[in-house]
Amino acid sequence: MSSHPSTLAIIGGGFAGVVSALRLIQSSTAPIRLIIIGSEAQLGRGIAYSTDNPHHLVNGLAQGFGIVPEQPLHLVEWLRANAARHGWSLPAGATFEESFPPRWLYGTYVQETLAQVLAEQGDRVTFEHLQARAIGLSRQGKRYQVRTDKGPVDADAVVLATGLHPRARLAVEGPAEATANKVISRLWEQDAWQAVARDQRLLVLGSSLTALDSIISAEDAGFGGEYSVLSRRGVLVQTREEVPVWPDVLDPRALPSTLATLVGHAQQARRQIRQRGVHGQQITLAIRPHVPAMWLRATVADKLRFIRYLRPYWENILHRAAPESGQRLDAVVAAGRLQRKVGQLLKLAVQPSGQVQVTWRPRGSSAAQTFEVDRVVDAHGYEFDWRQSSDPLVRDLLANQLVRPHDTGFGIEADGITGQVQVDGAQVAGLFAVGHPLRGASWESNSIGEQVIQAVATGQALISQLQTQPAGVLEPAL
Ligand SMILES: Cc1cc2nc3c(=O)[nH]c(=O)nc-3n(C[C@H](O)[C@H](O)[C@H](O)COP(=O)(O)OP(=O)(O)OC[C@H]3O[C@@H](n4cnc5c(N)ncnc54)[C@H](O)[C@@H]3O)c2cc1C
Repeated sequence: MSSHPSTLAIIGGGFAGVVSALRLIQSSTAPIRLIIIGSEAQLGRGIAYSTDNPHHLVNGLAQGFGIVPEQPLHLVEWLRANAARHGWSLPAGATFEESFPPRWLYGTYVQETLAQVLAEQGDRVTFEHLQARAIGLSRQGKRYQVRTDKGPVDADAVVLATGLHPRARLAVEGPAEATANKVISRLWEQDAWQAVARDQRLLVLGSSLTALDSIISAEDAGFGGEYSVLSRRGVLVQTREEVPVWPDVLDPRALPSTLATLVGHAQQARRQIRQRGVHGQQITLAIRPHVPAMWLRATVADKLRFIRYLRPYWENILHRAAPESGQRLDAVVAAGRLQRKVGQLLKLAVQPSGQVQVTWRPRGSSAAQTFEVDRVVDAHGYEFDWRQSSDPLVRDLLANQLVRPHDTGFGIEADGITGQVQVDGAQVAGLFAVGHPLRGASWESNSIGEQVIQAVATGQALISQLQTQPAGVLEPAL
């Protein structure tokens, strides 16, 4: 048996990377060497918790967002002990349990929890954050080698926690000097918004939580004009209301095996809910806990149908805004400053006047229309399809067939519970994923609660593999 500690590499230093690290530390009793390869200077923030705007809030109650499952109120206790030190105090009348802390503070919580857990391990865990971009992964005998822009990293096992993939940048036609600064894409940096104070009209592409963040940032920067919010379905982000869950949409002992049956159950519940004057959000919330089980059994055709027809409405209810954030949106709508446009963006072009001409096609129409704005806000979301990603690591993994794209186009083929990567149904020993890469495999993979659960399962599975096959002897299954 090898005496040197196993080396575990996590690619991606956002939320999923850090919660994976926590679970690997907590699942293993033997000495380990842990390396997070993350491109950002700070760990644990990723896209969501990097924002420097204090009005960008987490979208759920603090009592549900702890990252140590054994201590359900871990975040609440951390806030009680540390929020003031970081300059945040509870809004009047709120409790820590029922607060919606700012996302920057949540990122600090994730970082400090990692630091504390590492400190408690003494020298059992050797930890390193390599600030680098992973650009390739290969097998080296029975181990892995991660190629990074700062040199290679050898590891016994690898966790892909690579998160969201940015979409291609919006192209604006026109001379370079005229198009510069016409698109705001650094949405979570307050200095990116300074120019909007003098603008009259903004186009916001997308209508989800990212669009709401953008509207809050524009308002904070002094924008007082009109928003045109363009999205394909026109479903504007909803505000979170604390509604008791409707108890009997599904029977857990006889879950529907097809999407049609599931929709039938939901429609029946909707009729009952309407009759009793209860909030419709309850149906989605009641179904959500059963999604992992139903998703694992669903056919690819049903998964694709769900993604195509129901996903925007489903996500609209699951990913609701904190009440304080929702009120900012309500105020803009009530003032008549937000116009919803439902359709598809065709072209952006800067005019001689300096305005951006937006060419778009309303949904259900074959004729294009135009209107003009001062600036465009790129809040149109992320690329979930690994086949479409230009990220060098993703291209390398697919080219070397170390991973396969999932049949749905979302993320990669993997065990939906443990996150172990699969190729044609065969487990790839020592290669795991947590979070967004698992969207096709287990669907709900993009929120705090789900990623914490996934990290627990991955930590247990990975460490138990290492214990049965100690360092240096993980046998890839292929
Ligand atoms: C604006 C926004 C707000 C959100 N708010 C909430 C919320 O309030 N509550 C909630 O539950 N969920 C929220 N989410 C969902 C969010 O996706 C998850 O909560 C979680 O933060 C995702 O973390 P992640 O690590 O998977 O992804 P990411 O945040 O995308 O982090 C991945 C990190 O890995 C790095 N990386 C990727 N590839 C490589 C590579 N090859 N080499 C090196 N580094 C790499 C990236 O640069 C990035 O830093 C929000 C999402 C967004 C975008």
